[in-house]
Amino acid sequence: MPQPIWRYTCADMEGTSDVSPHCPKCGTLGEFQCWVLSRDQLLARYQYRTGLKPVGPHRDYADKILADLLVQCVACETTGLRTLEDGNYRICGPCEGMGWLWCVPLAEVDARLREIASRFPDAVAARLPGFLHGVLVYSEERCEITYYRHLLAAPGDQKQGGD
Ligand SMILES: [Zn+2]
Ligand SMILES: [Zn+2]
Repeated sequence: MPQPIWRYTCADMEGTSDVSPHCPKCGTLGEFQCWVLSRDQLLARYQYRTGLKPVGPHRDYADKILADLLVQCVACETTGLRTLEDGNYRICGPCEGMGWLWCVPLAEVDARLREIASRFPDAVAARLPGFLHGVLVYSEERCEITYYRHLLAAPGDQKQGGD
């Protein structure tokens, strides 16, 4: 689920918060700013886009050699979401929530991704079917997201079997 961002108007805190609509010091209700993808959705988005783990020693290298293949989506400024006048959100159309677009042929992207994978074999992650829906579970140990279609299939319930 995307999460709302709040700005407090009471001068107790600078900037914005994704934690609470109320200022933690004085309790004043802040102003709703916009929606953003959750941390797990952002991690899953990276993994979905690249097939790489979102966290790890490959990231510096990967970020460097992928940088010139990507352009920011101007419609959503990389958030992947559009916040509507009525306070709801929708997935950004032009980038389908990705926030970034490949600006070279996909064969070139694949070649760079293969290069990263050959230097950092441990960086290769499980392919995800998406990053906006389903249940996304990040493993600190494996540094990757596992996707579950339904909450009932999340860890702990796995042994119950069934679909
Ligand atoms: Zn306050
Ligand atoms: Zn966009």
